[in-house]
Amino acid sequence: MSCLVVPSQEGSKAPGPVPGPLWPVGSLGVAIGVSWGMSSASMEIQLRHAEMHIHKPAEPATATVVKNEACTAGKKAAGFVRHIELDLSGTGLAGKCIPGQSLGILAPGVDGNGRPHKPRLYSLASPTRGEDGHGAVHALTVKRLIDENPADNSLFLGVASNYLCGLGVGSKVQVSGPSGKRFVLPVDAGAHDFVFIATGTGIAPFRGMLMDLFAGGYKGEITLIMGSPYATDLLYDGQLAQLAQEHANFHYRTAISREANAPHGKMYVQDRLAAEWPVLESQFASGRALVYICGIAGMELGVFQQLARALGPGVLEQYLELDPEAAGNIDGWTRAMIHRQVRPTRRVFLEVYA
Ligand code: NAP
Repeated sequence: MSCLVVPSQEGSKAPGPVPGPLWPVGSLGVAIGVSWGMSSASMEIQLRHAEMHIHKPAEPATATVVKNEACTAGKKAAGFVRHIELDLSGTGLAGKCIPGQSLGILAPGVDGNGRPHKPRLYSLASPTRGEDGHGAVHALTVKRLIDENPADNSLFLGVASNYLCGLGVGSKVQVSGPSGKRFVLPVDAGAHDFVFIATGTGIAPFRGMLMDLFAGGYKGEITLIMGSPYATDLLYDGQLAQLAQEHANFHYRTAISREANAPHGKMYVQDRLAAEWPVLESQFASGRALVYICGIAGMELGVFQQLARALGPGVLEQYLELDPEAAGNIDGWTRAMIHRQVRPTRRVFLEVYA
């Protein structure tokens, strides 16, 4: 089976002994490998193997909704977000999906041009073993897109999100995928610490990854920073708090952006990253830390600025490659500079959407 090798940069301080893979060796995937500087050995981050495009949109699988429930923390949450479980039994997708991948949802009907709706991608929220223990039932985390058209004040409803959120148990759904092979966990997960940073429904892949890591006996450190407008809108909050209680090496931290009276005051995920820095610093300095970022695209700028401010020479370049003009003016960075003058290395995994 082929492997994906992603160019990576390991720090000059080598990580400690590398435990064996948490995943079956037969499931090894892409390796991301990059030489790390003149003075240090070349290291690779080998990612788990991810099967791709088993069902193309032209030949979708038919899944059955087996659960559809709100997953917001409070009954009066500002947004409507639902945990929707799909039974993929009997399709090519059963047992083939891993956290960090997405499924395509084909909503019925046609678009404004009379063509069938294009698939909308949703991240899997389940672990590899699925919700059923056999990899046949996988969950999506879906927020209803409800907006107003500024041109004429008419109501705009997202096609796929409102379709999915309105489905009852037993409904059939056309599904394509899986897609995505670069936002998955590494094969040698035990050799790394993980900093997971999510905003809103960007939490989805981390729910599954956490379950996979703990099912595999992971012993490193995991920090999850979850950004939400209100405490009522935190997703899977009870499950994540429970996991943190069960695993002393899992640190669940929230960043609530619109509540001045939240325990920590209003903050964004990058502010929480700064607040956690005394604990996280050694994980970065040791070369063990991998950063996974999922959610709204705007968070990249603030998170990268915080990394650039906090990481010293010799460590920063393991995570961000900066053009000289960017290196001298971190506070002046703009979103347009991200991926141009400020480039994340392969130790930073991104799944962000505008
Ligand atoms: P949300 O509930 O609105 O929460 C987003 C949080 O991020 C808010 O607290 C928001 O603060 C904050 N935020 C806004 N701008 C920020 C910035 N520049 N830096 C840091 N934090 C910032 O989120 P959502 O509506 O669920 O959106 C989540 C995003 O994830 C969407 O773009 C979605 O496409 C994407 N996504 C979804 C999935 C999925 O499977 N459903 C998977 C991956 C990614 P304020 O609003 O208070 O400013």
